[in-house]
Amino acid sequence: MDFLFLFLFYLALLVVGVVTICICSKTPCLKGLIRGGAQVFSYLIPECLQRALLRLLHYLFHTRNYTFVILHLVLQGMVYTEYTWEVLGLCQELEFSLYYLFLPYLLLIINLVFFALSCVTDPGTITKANVSVFLQVYEFDEVMFPKNVICSTCDLRKPARSKHCSVCNRCVQRFDHHCVWVNNCIGAWNTRYFLFYLLTLMASAATMAVVSTVFLVQLVMVSDLYLETYIDDLGHSQVVDIVFLIQHLFLTFPRVVFLLGFVMVLSFLLGGYLCFALYLAATNQTTNEWYRGDRAWRRRCPHMARPPSADPRVYRNTYCHGLWSNLQEIFLPASAHYERKKKEC
Ligand SMILES: [Zn+2]
Ligand SMILES: [Zn+2]
Repeated sequence: MDFLFLFLFYLALLVVGVVTICICSKTPCLKGLIRGGAQVFSYLIPECLQRALLRLLHYLFHTRNYTFVILHLVLQGMVYTEYTWEVLGLCQELEFSLYYLFLPYLLLIINLVFFALSCVTDPGTITKANVSVFLQVYEFDEVMFPKNVICSTCDLRKPARSKHCSVCNRCVQRFDHHCVWVNNCIGAWNTRYFLFYLLTLMASAATMAVVSTVFLVQLVMVSDLYLETYIDDLGHSQVVDIVFLIQHLFLTFPRVVFLLGFVMVLSFLLGGYLCFALYLAATNQTTNEWYRGDRAWRRRCPHMARPPSADPRVYRNTYCHGLWSNLQEIFLPASAHYERKKKEC
Protein backbone atom coordinates (compact mmCIF):
# COMPACT_ATOMS: atom_id res chain seq x y z
CA MET A 1 0.00 0.00 0.00
CA ASP A 2 2.85 2.40 0.92
CA PHE A 3 4.54 1.68 -2.39
CA LEU A 4 1.34 2.28 -4.35
CA PHE A 5 0.68 5.50 -2.45
CA LEU A 6 4.21 6.76 -3.15
CA PHE A 7 3.92 5.87 -6.84
CA LEU A 8 0.62 7.77 -7.17
CA PHE A 9 2.08 10.68 -5.19
CA TYR A 10 5.10 10.97 -7.55
CA LEU A 11 2.79 10.69 -10.57
CA ALA A 12 0.53 13.49 -9.25
CA LEU A 13 3.62 15.60 -8.43
CA LEU A 14 4.92 15.18 -12.00
CA VAL A 15 1.58 16.14 -13.59
CA VAL A 16 1.14 19.15 -11.24
CA GLY A 17 4.73 20.25 -12.00
CA VAL A 18 4.20 20.14 -15.76
CA VAL A 19 0.85 21.97 -15.52
CA THR A 20 2.40 24.66 -13.25
CA ILE A 21 5.26 25.20 -15.72
CA CYS A 22 2.71 25.54 -18.57
CA ILE A 23 0.67 28.11 -16.59
CA CYS A 24 3.71 30.07 -15.37
CA SER A 25 5.39 30.14 -18.81
CA LYS A 26 3.35 33.25 -19.78
CA THR A 27 4.08 35.15 -16.57
CA PRO A 28 7.35 36.46 -15.06
CA CYS A 29 6.92 33.81 -12.29
CA LEU A 30 8.84 31.15 -14.22
CA LYS A 31 11.84 33.42 -14.84
CA GLY A 32 11.86 34.38 -11.14
CA LEU A 33 11.70 30.70 -10.13
CA ILE A 34 14.54 29.76 -12.51
CA ARG A 35 16.66 32.69 -11.27
CA GLY A 36 16.00 31.71 -7.62
CA GLY A 37 16.79 28.05 -8.34
CA ALA A 38 20.01 29.01 -10.16
CA GLN A 39 21.09 31.13 -7.17
CA VAL A 40 20.51 28.25 -4.74
CA PHE A 41 22.47 25.89 -7.02
CA SER A 42 25.35 28.40 -7.33
CA TYR A 43 25.85 28.15 -3.52
CA LEU A 44 25.60 24.35 -3.46
CA ILE A 45 27.61 23.30 -6.55
CA PRO A 46 31.39 24.01 -6.97
CA GLU A 47 32.30 26.55 -9.67
CA CYS A 48 34.08 24.08 -12.00
CA LEU A 49 31.03 21.81 -11.95
CA GLN A 50 28.76 24.80 -12.67
CA ARG A 51 30.87 25.70 -15.72
CA ALA A 52 30.76 22.08 -16.99
CA LEU A 53 26.99 22.01 -16.43
CA LEU A 54 26.51 25.29 -18.31
CA ARG A 55 28.66 24.00 -21.20
CA LEU A 56 26.56 20.83 -21.32
CA LEU A 57 23.28 22.79 -21.25
CA HIS A 58 24.61 25.11 -23.98
CA TYR A 59 25.57 22.11 -26.12
CA LEU A 60 22.20 20.39 -25.56
CA PHE A 61 19.87 23.36 -26.07
CA HIS A 62 21.80 26.01 -28.01
CA THR A 63 23.60 23.99 -30.69
CA ARG A 64 22.23 21.63 -33.31
CA ASN A 65 22.95 18.08 -32.16
CA TYR A 66 21.35 14.65 -32.34
CA THR A 67 21.28 13.91 -28.57
CA PHE A 68 17.51 14.22 -28.19
CA VAL A 69 16.82 12.50 -31.53
CA ILE A 70 18.85 9.49 -30.35
CA LEU A 71 17.22 9.66 -26.89
CA HIS A 72 13.79 9.75 -28.55
CA LEU A 73 14.55 6.65 -30.66
CA VAL A 74 16.09 4.78 -27.70
CA LEU A 75 13.05 5.53 -25.48
CA GLN A 76 10.65 4.52 -28.26
CA GLY A 77 12.66 1.33 -28.82
CA MET A 78 12.62 0.51 -25.09
CA VAL A 79 8.85 1.04 -24.78
CA TYR A 80 8.13 -1.12 -27.85
CA THR A 81 10.55 -3.85 -26.67
CA GLU A 82 8.75 -3.95 -23.31
CA TYR A 83 5.38 -4.07 -25.05
CA THR A 84 6.48 -6.91 -27.36
CA TRP A 85 8.26 -8.81 -24.60
CA GLU A 86 5.75 -8.46 -21.76
CA VAL A 87 2.29 -7.71 -23.20
CA LEU A 88 2.06 -9.10 -26.74
CA GLY A 89 2.78 -12.79 -25.97
CA LEU A 90 0.43 -12.93 -22.96
CA CYS A 91 -2.30 -11.07 -24.88
CA GLN A 92 -2.09 -13.65 -27.67
CA GLU A 93 -2.56 -16.38 -25.05
CA LEU A 94 -5.69 -14.54 -23.86
CA GLU A 95 -6.88 -14.52 -27.52
CA PHE A 96 -6.85 -10.77 -28.07
CA SER A 97 -7.70 -9.57 -31.55
CA LEU A 98 -4.50 -9.28 -33.60
CA TYR A 99 -5.81 -6.02 -35.10
CA TYR A 100 -5.66 -4.28 -31.69
CA LEU A 101 -2.34 -5.86 -30.78
CA PHE A 102 -0.59 -4.71 -33.95
CA LEU A 103 -2.17 -1.25 -34.08
CA PRO A 104 0.69 0.29 -31.99
CA TYR A 105 3.21 -1.08 -34.57
CA LEU A 106 1.28 0.44 -37.46
CA LEU A 107 1.19 3.77 -35.59
CA LEU A 108 4.93 3.44 -34.90
CA ILE A 109 5.70 3.13 -38.63
CA ILE A 110 3.53 6.18 -39.47
CA ASN A 111 5.03 8.09 -36.55
CA LEU A 112 8.60 7.35 -37.68
CA VAL A 113 7.78 8.58 -41.19
CA PHE A 114 6.48 11.93 -39.83
CA PHE A 115 9.33 12.10 -37.33
CA ALA A 116 11.84 11.75 -40.19
CA LEU A 117 9.94 14.32 -42.29
CA SER A 118 9.91 16.81 -39.36
CA CYS A 119 13.67 16.27 -38.93
CA VAL A 120 14.79 16.62 -42.54
CA THR A 121 12.25 18.98 -44.15
CA ASP A 122 13.42 22.56 -44.65
CA PRO A 123 11.19 24.58 -42.27
CA GLY A 124 11.33 27.60 -44.61
CA THR A 125 14.91 28.90 -44.50
CA ILE A 126 15.09 32.47 -45.76
CA THR A 127 17.92 33.05 -48.22
CA LYS A 128 18.93 35.82 -50.62
CA ALA A 129 17.29 33.85 -53.43
CA ASN A 130 13.85 33.46 -51.82
CA VAL A 131 13.51 36.47 -49.47
CA SER A 132 11.57 38.49 -52.04
CA VAL A 133 9.02 35.65 -52.33
CA PHE A 134 8.64 35.31 -48.55
CA LEU A 135 8.21 39.08 -48.13
CA GLN A 136 4.97 38.84 -50.14
CA VAL A 137 3.38 36.04 -48.10
CA TYR A 138 2.23 37.95 -44.98
CA GLU A 139 1.29 41.58 -44.29
CA PHE A 140 3.44 43.52 -41.79
CA ASP A 141 1.40 44.38 -38.70
CA GLU A 142 3.82 47.15 -37.52
CA VAL A 143 3.58 45.92 -33.92
CA MET A 144 5.35 42.59 -33.68
CA PHE A 145 6.46 42.54 -37.31
CA PRO A 146 7.49 46.02 -38.51
CA LYS A 147 8.48 46.69 -42.12
CA ASN A 148 12.13 47.08 -43.18
CA VAL A 149 13.75 45.24 -40.29
CA ILE A 150 17.04 43.61 -41.25
CA CYS A 151 18.36 40.46 -39.56
CA SER A 152 21.84 41.47 -38.39
CA THR A 153 23.18 37.91 -38.72
CA CYS A 154 21.72 36.91 -42.09
CA ASP A 155 21.81 40.48 -43.46
CA LEU A 156 18.38 40.00 -45.05
CA ARG A 157 15.04 41.79 -44.68
CA LYS A 158 12.84 39.97 -42.21
CA PRO A 159 9.50 38.86 -43.69
CA ALA A 160 6.46 39.16 -41.40
CA ARG A 161 6.09 36.18 -39.02
CA SER A 162 9.71 35.10 -39.55
CA LYS A 163 12.35 34.82 -36.81
CA HIS A 164 16.06 34.19 -36.62
CA CYS A 165 16.76 30.84 -34.92
CA SER A 166 19.92 31.22 -32.85
CA VAL A 167 20.38 27.42 -32.68
CA CYS A 168 20.27 26.86 -36.46
CA ASN A 169 21.69 30.32 -37.23
CA ARG A 170 19.14 31.13 -39.95
CA CYS A 171 15.93 33.09 -40.41
CA VAL A 172 12.86 30.87 -40.73
CA GLN A 173 9.53 31.74 -42.35
CA ARG A 174 6.47 31.49 -40.05
CA PHE A 175 8.81 30.45 -37.22
CA ASP A 176 7.06 28.43 -34.53
CA HIS A 177 9.87 27.12 -32.31
CA HIS A 178 13.12 25.15 -32.42
CA CYS A 179 12.39 21.57 -31.38
CA VAL A 180 15.30 19.66 -29.84
CA TRP A 181 13.46 16.33 -30.27
CA VAL A 182 13.55 16.63 -34.07
CA ASN A 183 16.73 18.76 -34.12
CA ASN A 184 15.08 21.23 -36.48
CA CYS A 185 13.07 24.44 -36.50
CA ILE A 186 9.31 24.12 -36.86
CA GLY A 187 8.24 26.61 -39.51
CA ALA A 188 6.06 27.23 -42.56
CA TRP A 189 6.94 24.04 -44.42
CA ASN A 190 7.15 21.39 -41.70
CA THR A 191 4.47 22.40 -39.14
CA ARG A 192 2.06 19.96 -40.87
CA TYR A 193 4.52 17.05 -40.46
CA PHE A 194 5.16 18.06 -36.85
CA LEU A 195 1.41 18.02 -36.07
CA PHE A 196 1.02 14.52 -37.60
CA TYR A 197 4.12 13.42 -35.71
CA LEU A 198 2.58 14.62 -32.41
CA LEU A 199 -0.78 13.04 -33.24
CA THR A 200 0.66 9.61 -34.12
CA LEU A 201 3.01 9.65 -31.11
CA MET A 202 0.11 10.41 -28.79
CA ALA A 203 -2.09 7.81 -30.53
CA SER A 204 0.57 5.07 -30.24
CA ALA A 205 1.06 5.79 -26.51
CA ALA A 206 -2.72 5.88 -25.90
CA THR A 207 -3.29 2.62 -27.86
CA MET A 208 -0.56 0.90 -25.88
CA ALA A 209 -2.13 2.17 -22.63
CA VAL A 210 -5.55 0.82 -23.66
CA VAL A 211 -4.16 -2.61 -24.67
CA SER A 212 -2.14 -2.90 -21.41
CA THR A 213 -5.17 -1.89 -19.30
CA VAL A 214 -7.47 -4.38 -21.07
CA PHE A 215 -4.79 -7.06 -20.66
CA LEU A 216 -4.58 -6.49 -16.87
CA VAL A 217 -8.38 -6.38 -16.49
CA GLN A 218 -8.73 -9.58 -18.52
CA LEU A 219 -6.09 -11.24 -16.36
CA VAL A 220 -8.04 -10.39 -13.19
CA MET A 221 -11.30 -11.65 -14.73
CA VAL A 222 -9.82 -14.93 -16.00
CA SER A 223 -8.15 -15.75 -12.66
CA ASP A 224 -11.27 -14.75 -10.64
CA LEU A 225 -8.92 -12.75 -8.43
CA TYR A 226 -11.66 -10.27 -7.56
CA LEU A 227 -13.62 -13.04 -5.77
CA GLU A 228 -10.74 -13.93 -3.44
CA THR A 229 -10.16 -12.81 0.16
CA TYR A 230 -6.93 -11.89 1.94
CA ILE A 231 -5.70 -11.49 5.55
CA ASP A 232 -4.84 -7.86 6.43
CA ASP A 233 -2.14 -6.60 8.88
CA LEU A 234 -4.54 -7.01 11.83
CA GLY A 235 -5.30 -10.64 10.92
CA HIS A 236 -8.82 -9.95 9.61
CA SER A 237 -10.15 -11.60 6.47
CA GLN A 238 -10.92 -8.95 3.81
CA VAL A 239 -12.61 -9.16 0.42
CA VAL A 240 -10.27 -8.15 -2.44
CA ASP A 241 -10.83 -4.51 -3.43
CA ILE A 242 -9.50 -2.31 -6.26
CA VAL A 243 -6.48 -1.04 -4.25
CA PHE A 244 -5.44 -4.60 -3.38
CA LEU A 245 -5.85 -5.62 -7.04
CA ILE A 246 -3.66 -2.77 -8.30
CA GLN A 247 -1.01 -3.56 -5.69
CA HIS A 248 -1.15 -7.26 -6.54
CA LEU A 249 -0.76 -6.54 -10.25
CA PHE A 250 2.11 -4.15 -9.49
CA LEU A 251 3.95 -6.91 -7.62
CA THR A 252 3.10 -9.70 -10.12
CA PHE A 253 3.63 -7.75 -13.37
CA PRO A 254 5.79 -4.77 -12.28
CA ARG A 255 7.12 -4.08 -15.79
CA VAL A 256 3.66 -4.12 -17.40
CA VAL A 257 2.23 -1.78 -14.72
CA PHE A 258 5.26 0.51 -15.01
CA LEU A 259 4.88 0.53 -18.81
CA LEU A 260 1.18 1.35 -18.38
CA GLY A 261 2.00 4.23 -15.98
CA PHE A 262 4.61 5.61 -18.38
CA VAL A 263 2.44 5.48 -21.52
CA MET A 264 -0.52 6.93 -19.60
CA VAL A 265 1.50 9.94 -18.40
CA LEU A 266 2.95 10.31 -21.91
CA SER A 267 -0.55 10.20 -23.47
CA PHE A 268 -1.80 12.96 -21.12
CA LEU A 269 1.24 15.19 -21.69
CA LEU A 270 1.26 14.69 -25.46
CA GLY A 271 -2.52 15.07 -25.59
CA GLY A 272 -2.27 18.41 -23.75
CA TYR A 273 0.50 19.64 -26.02
CA LEU A 274 -1.35 18.46 -29.13
CA CYS A 275 -4.48 20.38 -28.03
CA PHE A 276 -2.35 23.52 -27.60
CA ALA A 277 -0.71 23.02 -31.03
CA LEU A 278 -4.14 22.48 -32.65
CA TYR A 279 -5.50 25.60 -30.93
CA LEU A 280 -2.59 27.61 -32.40
CA ALA A 281 -3.18 26.05 -35.84
CA ALA A 282 -6.93 26.78 -35.70
CA THR A 283 -6.31 30.42 -34.73
CA ASN A 284 -3.33 30.86 -37.09
CA GLN A 285 -0.77 31.69 -34.42
CA THR A 286 2.73 30.41 -33.91
CA THR A 287 4.16 29.55 -30.48
CA ASN A 288 6.54 32.49 -30.94
CA GLU A 289 3.63 34.93 -31.58
CA TRP A 290 1.49 33.48 -28.75
CA TYR A 291 4.39 33.89 -26.32
CA ARG A 292 5.65 37.29 -27.48
CA GLY A 293 2.18 38.80 -28.02
CA ASP A 294 1.24 38.52 -24.39
CA ARG A 295 4.64 39.65 -23.11
CA ALA A 296 4.72 42.69 -25.43
CA TRP A 297 1.67 44.42 -23.89
CA ARG A 298 2.60 43.23 -20.40
CA ARG A 299 5.92 45.11 -20.75
CA ARG A 300 4.13 48.25 -21.98
CA CYS A 301 1.27 48.16 -19.47
CA PRO A 302 2.52 46.23 -16.39
CA HIS A 303 -0.28 47.68 -14.20
CA MET A 304 -3.12 46.38 -16.41
CA ALA A 305 -4.72 42.95 -16.16
CA ARG A 306 -5.88 42.94 -19.81
CA PRO A 307 -4.54 44.57 -22.99
CA PRO A 308 -6.20 47.95 -23.71
CA SER A 309 -8.67 47.37 -26.52
CA ALA A 310 -8.10 50.57 -28.51
CA ASP A 311 -4.29 50.85 -28.26
CA PRO A 312 -2.85 50.35 -31.79
CA ARG A 313 0.55 49.38 -30.31
CA VAL A 314 -0.94 46.28 -28.72
CA TYR A 315 -0.31 43.11 -30.71
CA ARG A 316 -3.38 41.45 -32.18
CA ASN A 317 -3.50 38.35 -34.29
CA THR A 318 -4.32 39.71 -37.74
CA TYR A 319 -3.48 36.48 -39.57
CA CYS A 320 -6.59 34.56 -38.50
CA HIS A 321 -8.92 34.17 -41.51
CA GLY A 322 -11.32 31.47 -40.33
CA LEU A 323 -10.71 27.83 -39.38
CA TRP A 324 -10.66 26.33 -42.88
CA SER A 325 -8.33 28.98 -44.30
CA ASN A 326 -6.03 28.75 -41.26
CA LEU A 327 -5.72 24.96 -41.56
CA GLN A 328 -5.19 25.23 -45.30
CA GLU A 329 -2.28 27.58 -44.67
CA ILE A 330 -0.57 24.96 -42.50
CA PHE A 331 -1.33 21.87 -44.55
CA LEU A 332 -0.89 23.58 -47.93
CA PRO A 333 1.69 26.27 -47.04
CA ALA A 334 1.37 29.45 -49.08
CA SER A 335 5.12 29.92 -49.37
CA ALA A 336 5.54 26.51 -51.03
CA HIS A 337 2.85 27.56 -53.47
CA TYR A 338 4.70 30.86 -54.13
CA GLU A 339 7.94 28.92 -54.62
CA ARG A 340 6.33 26.59 -57.17
CA LYS A 341 4.83 29.59 -58.97
CA LYS A 342 8.26 31.23 -59.12
CA LYS A 343 9.79 28.11 -60.67
CA GLU A 344 7.00 27.91 -63.24
CA CYS A 345 7.62 31.50 -64.37
ZN1 LIG B 1 18.56 35.72 -39.51
ZN1 LIG C 1 16.29 26.12 -35.29
